[in-house]
Amino acid sequence: MTTYTSLEDFDTAYKTVNATFKSGTTKDLKWRKWQLKQLWWLMEDNEKRILAALKKDLNRNDFESIFTDVVGVKTDILHHISSLEKWTADQPIDAGFIFGTLGKSKIRREPLGVTLIIGAWNFPIMLTLQPVIAAIAAGCAIVIKPSELAVATQDLLMELIPRYMDPSAIVAVSAGPAEMGPILDRKYDHIFYTGGSKVARIIAAAAAKHLTPTVLELGGQGPAIVTKSANVDLAAKKIAWAKYLNAGQICLSVNHVFADPAIADELVERLSHWFDVCQNGGSKPTAAASNMVTIINERNFDRLAGLLSQTEGKTTYGGDLDRATKKFSPTVVANVTLDDSLMSEELFGPICPIIKADYKQAIKNIGDLPHPLAIYIFSSKQSEIDEILGGTNSGGCSINDVIIHAGTPNAPFGGVGESGHGYYHGTYGIDAFSHIRTVVEPPSFLHKITGFLYPPFDVKHASKIAVKNKLGFKRGETLQDQKIKVGFLWRLQQLIPFAG
Ligand code: NAD
Repeated sequence: MTTYTSLEDFDTAYKTVNATFKSGTTKDLKWRKWQLKQLWWLMEDNEKRILAALKKDLNRNDFESIFTDVVGVKTDILHHISSLEKWTADQPIDAGFIFGTLGKSKIRREPLGVTLIIGAWNFPIMLTLQPVIAAIAAGCAIVIKPSELAVATQDLLMELIPRYMDPSAIVAVSAGPAEMGPILDRKYDHIFYTGGSKVARIIAAAAAKHLTPTVLELGGQGPAIVTKSANVDLAAKKIAWAKYLNAGQICLSVNHVFADPAIADELVERLSHWFDVCQNGGSKPTAAASNMVTIINERNFDRLAGLLSQTEGKTTYGGDLDRATKKFSPTVVANVTLDDSLMSEELFGPICPIIKADYKQAIKNIGDLPHPLAIYIFSSKQSEIDEILGGTNSGGCSINDVIIHAGTPNAPFGGVGESGHGYYHGTYGIDAFSHIRTVVEPPSFLHKITGFLYPPFDVKHASKIAVKNKLGFKRGETLQDQKIKVGFLWRLQQLIPFAG
């Protein structure tokens, strides 16, 4: 059992990182690059220990850990080092002739300050260190709080972070829910939280007391929709993979599947096949013999077991549990209805409920639940894909695939509504930890020709600032005849304010 950071040590660390940020040290691009390189060496020198910690926490196969927790972090570090100047450079504003050409207008990215990064246990290296990479690149000082539930990984991070990172600006603290109170009471300039929406409400309330901005990376009941035009075998292969990877303990996993009645039985059969393949070709092995990641703790194991024991659906694959080892076999439950126990909350485990519904019903049912972090569409018809996209919303979406949108280079990653807010990855991560500061220097003569804007005001000058309908749209236009003519004068007004 870990000893959590004492309040005294936390106070010292908190004061240190605040003083360092105020000193300007972390704003220096050389410091940022140095720290990104240090993080690289932390990963490189300790890969074996990282894999061992992940094995201890989750019984993960080393390949699975390299693929999920290691590769993303290392790739990200290199990408940030090589793109740092480009991503943090001042950006000119297309501000028109007066402010852009005759004057100077630009955007500066200012680091927000000291950020608190709270990690989750399911990918305890990636979900803790990827936001750290973005925060370093943005020039922030950082308090890192790994998840206490992945105990071995937390302990390793607590040892390695002070050894590799600049302790005056980047500190790690360990805490459980009970210890989080005093940590959250303090004022930060930004909080980045990854975890469930229940705790997110505690984080958001604590942040609100100080008007601290947050990025909340949450989860939800992300569905897959398999239409009758889909490649059913491919859909089953991808869905089985999403449930097998980390035993479905992934914010982006497939929570449940809407399968068109015409292909639902075939999908269930192909899922059995692909789960067999995942389990080394064994035929429906017992939980004890399973090579899949274990459930993180007894509480989550019992929660999943409880939901499965109450289902009215038909278990067609797996369903075998071993509490002593926390092994839960991949499990397919067919004929699930929307009011079933398996639909009562985010599963975050290897149970795959199949609901017989065509994609139009699926759109309606998705709309009745909070926005999920992801939706997966399996279809070969563009019209179906467009209709599903148009009728739903989610953090992201992969088509004829799963999870892939979250690893797509330069793409933003984040939720919407109940699945969170804010984005990171690539430039979006830098922006998450930055204030986008507009800096304008108007041409020196501007005040001479705009004297009428200063008091005493006189309404006779109103015509100089009046806004006219330069687009030329007509009164009484209907929805059907919406055709906006972008005229020459409109472009001119953009270039020269007050023109016309
Ligand atoms: P959690 O909310 O229980 O814990 C996450 C973090 O919050 C941990 O560091 C924990 O110490 C801290 N915490 C727990 N209780 C707290 C409290 N009372 N006050 C302050 N901090 C507290 O989440 P979890 O169980 O670790 O993760 C599961 C959830 O996270 C799922 O809903 C999943 O979808 C979501 N998730 C989202 C992402 C994403 O990137 N969007 C990634 C992983 C997990």
